[in-house]
Order: sequence, then C-alpha cells, then structure tokens
Amino acid sequence: MPLYSYKCTECGNAFDITQSLSDATLSECPLCGGKLRKLFGTVGVSFNGSGFYSTDSKSGSSGSSGGAKS
Ligand SMILES: [Zn+2]
Repeated sequence: MPLYSYKCTECGNAFDITQSLSDATLSECPLCGGKLRKLFGTVGVSFNGSGFYSTDSKSGSSGSSGGAKS
C-alpha cells in the first residue's frame, strides 16, 4: 500500500497515511476540517547551507614569534 502524505492548509497538520489506490483521497483535515493538500513524497527538502561558515582565515598573521634574522 502506498504511503501518502497530507498537510492541512489551514492548521498545518501534517501526517502520513497508507491508502490503496482505490481509496478515496482525503480532502478534509481530521483536526480542524480544513482543506488538505496531498504531498507526493517528501522530496521538497533542500539543503542550501551555503555561506554559513567562512573558512577563509587570514593566513600570515600566525607565526609572529621568531623570524628574527640574526
Ligand atoms: Zn487542519
């Protein structure tokens, strides 16, 4: 039985339910009776974690000790 994901457009209630293809599509939120949106799989996850950590440490400032040319 395929697993369907629904999310309420009113209260944001999201849940998964297994339904056969012959079952009627849910359209009403069991909590608030709002309109449900059918989600086809959870592929909307996007990891755009760019620009969070800058690893460009200023090189050259380290190693100040020593270096005195005698
Ligand atoms: Zn709802």
